[in-house]
Amino acid sequence: MDLAFSPEQEELIRTLRSFARKELAPHSGTWDRSGQFPREAWRQMGELGLLGLRTPAAYGGQEADYLTFGIAMAEIGRGDFSCTYGIQLAGLAGEILGRNGTEEIKTRWLPPTARGETVIALALTEPGVGSDAASLACRAERDGDAYLITGEKSGISLGMVAEAAIVFARTDPAGRARGVTAFLVPLDLPGVSRSPLRDMGSRAIARAVLTFDRVRVDASHRLGPEGTGFYQVMQGFDYNRVGIALASLGAAQVSVEETMAYVKERQAFGRSLASFEGVSFAIAEAATHLEACRWLCYRALWLADQGQPYTKESAMTKWWGPRLAVETIHQCLLLHGHYGYTDELPFEQRMRDVIGLEIGDGTAEVMKLVVARQLLGRDRL
Ligand SMILES: Cc1cc2nc3c(=O)[nH]c(=O)nc-3n(C[C@H](O)[C@H](O)[C@H](O)COP(=O)(O)OP(=O)(O)OC[C@H]3O[C@@H](n4cnc5c(N)ncnc54)[C@H](O)[C@@H]3O)c2cc1C
Repeated sequence: MDLAFSPEQEELIRTLRSFARKELAPHSGTWDRSGQFPREAWRQMGELGLLGLRTPAAYGGQEADYLTFGIAMAEIGRGDFSCTYGIQLAGLAGEILGRNGTEEIKTRWLPPTARGETVIALALTEPGVGSDAASLACRAERDGDAYLITGEKSGISLGMVAEAAIVFARTDPAGRARGVTAFLVPLDLPGVSRSPLRDMGSRAIARAVLTFDRVRVDASHRLGPEGTGFYQVMQGFDYNRVGIALASLGAAQVSVEETMAYVKERQAFGRSLASFEGVSFAIAEAATHLEACRWLCYRALWLADQGQPYTKESAMTKWWGPRLAVETIHQCLLLHGHYGYTDELPFEQRMRDVIGLEIGDGTAEVMKLVVARQLLGRDRL
């Protein structure tokens, strides 16, 4: 058993922590208030290799292991939670296109995405289906050497700024999950329209509804054989969910550190706040929970890197990590008194940002279903 990071991983943590503190955190509040997509931060993350972690090296990626992906999510989550969507979505695009795209698609889209110059969104959810994604209704009908895509996708992160989206559409009306096919759809094609969503958090990454009205996509843009789309995205969800948990814990961890510094300075009743057990025990509990959840996350990614099953551990981290982070950040906000409740301090934004990923990529209830199925057997649930 070895529960320590390697010297290379420690060095990566130092580099990314410093980048997040200097380049992301000072702008995070401005991006949130303006709703401006931070393109320059994307380019900087591209330079650091963070947007090609799961992309084949032949197409500008790092082919990094899952632990490295997790470290990147945790460290960038300390600086700006919205920026972790870049690592997630470029990671999923790297995996899905890298495994299933034609040579032309990989050459055209993967290198600029890894550099942070283009953005690829992932369009699975629809107004009528979220948790039950296998029942999606968007359809793709064969038309000679192309497909005509018709349908609506909602809640699509980066939807307003992406140059392309991986769209999941039904090619077989009868097939449920087996009837779903993935396509890489450039979003400047005729028949695509977008409208912005006014979400409570992660406002800088421009979540959108994407509408496809008989959008003609060349058959070369189909990713893998017909009927394999659902399985392609499900493969990526397991590791990405752990990454989401780690990003949430990163936002919580930095909040605890800031709170520790504050309560040592702030005086009440002639003493520092830190000297009251009501304050110091809350911090001790938060630190304990964060430590436990973080190591569950890293163990899940370690299992992934060993090629062992980790669906159960991944689902455990996905419901627990964001929830724990929200509770922890809330506690930190309260320990700052009224200052914590203002937008002068980052806690209210961090809470709004992390709450989104209590829902996105699988709700807590759905994650507990996954855990329970693994524990009790699928036939019981
Ligand atoms: C921040 C954020 C980012 C997102 N980014 C993307 C993206 O990039 N691409 C994309 O395609 N989608 C994205 N989504 C959409 C997201 O994946 C869905 O919102 C999510 O899967 C839940 O689906 P729903 O909203 O339709 O809720 P529903 O599925 O309608 O669920 C509503 C409620 O019912 C509960 N519920 C549902 N089924 C069960 C059950 N069997 N047992 C118990 N409870 C159940 C849920 O837990 C939830 O509380 C994003 C959403 C958010 C909030």
